[in-house]
Amino acid sequence: MSQLRIALLPGDGIGREVTAEAVKALQALEAQSDDLSFAFDEFSAGAGEYLISGDPLPAETFAALQAYDAVLLGAMGLPDVRRADGAEMSPQLDLRERLDLYNGLRPIRLYHRALTPLKGYGAGDIDLLIVRENTEGLFHDRNAGHDPQAEWVENAMRISRKGARRIAHAAFAEARRRRKKVTLVDKANVLPAMAYFRAAFDEVAAEYPDVEAERVYVDAAALYLVQRPQAFDVIVTENMFGDILSDLAAGIVGGMGMAPSADIGENHAVFQPAHGSAPDIAGQGVANPTAAILSAAMMLDWLGREAEGHAVRAAVEKTLQDAGNRTRDIGGELSTAAMGERIIGNL
Ligand code: ATP
Repeated sequence: MSQLRIALLPGDGIGREVTAEAVKALQALEAQSDDLSFAFDEFSAGAGEYLISGDPLPAETFAALQAYDAVLLGAMGLPDVRRADGAEMSPQLDLRERLDLYNGLRPIRLYHRALTPLKGYGAGDIDLLIVRENTEGLFHDRNAGHDPQAEWVENAMRISRKGARRIAHAAFAEARRRRKKVTLVDKANVLPAMAYFRAAFDEVAAEYPDVEAERVYVDAAALYLVQRPQAFDVIVTENMFGDILSDLAAGIVGGMGMAPSADIGENHAVFQPAHGSAPDIAGQGVANPTAAILSAAMMLDWLGREAEGHAVRAAVEKTLQDAGNRTRDIGGELSTAAMGERIIGNL
């Protein structure tokens, strides 16, 4: 039996609280299985680590992580801990760029009708996947710095041919495993970089004649996500648009506590809930651990353990059928640990 080596980066705020529940879920699967075994090693990274060592992602940690089969991350950054230029610590973004984790997968699934503010949708009626380009786009300039006295500041949106093509390929590959439809979300009618992104998408789309390809401007996509989310299967988009639309989409299935994510490259992958460190509720034991547990399920899929990944999603769905199984963010009273326990109980 080969052991899967998992690097844990719980990070800051509720990241620590929800990662603990995801690890318990993985350990519960391990206990039930003859051929699944994990070795977990925890590393310190994030705003808390910056306060200790002056570096939110120490070089030894970054080097060590690369030897693991996968990285499970909580959340990083705290509003009061900032770099000299005023930006928050975001070593999770550094990891994406330095490990070239270009493929940002954000599945959006409605697990129970009570979790959506939209009328008429039940479990499974909203089921889409946002494929976010993670390494360039408008985030390309995030470390550029700026002079507060300047009369203007500008940030460029970088789209490379390689970056645009590989994220389009990733989206079509995902669609082939799903309902065979890809929607490109861009602003090709206004920005030249986006017209270039669309041209690359069109070239790649021609290689997947079995998958439907559609193109929607980002403003319309925001509208359609609220009006008719069932029309989407796979959405592929630029980094910043993906950042914004992921939160909007999370909002129609229960909020940030329900939204998992994976950042995948050729050789490495990092799995983390789509939410941040939520300083407003950190330390209270009320954070919803579901997004972190669903991120662990995505990790299982990527490690070739789809049966276990599916078992975790089924346990989440079963748990949420009971209206008593809710943390505060989704209308209940359970603590983080109690919610984790209910999900694990259904595994
Ligand atoms: P980032 O910029 O790092 O994504 P943020 O500060 O924009 O983070 P979050 O930390 O994700 O945002 O928090 C946004 C809101 O959602 C907050 O009100 C927070 O309390 C809530 N929230 C986020 N995650 C959870 C969770 N797991 N359970 C309950 N509420 C959550």
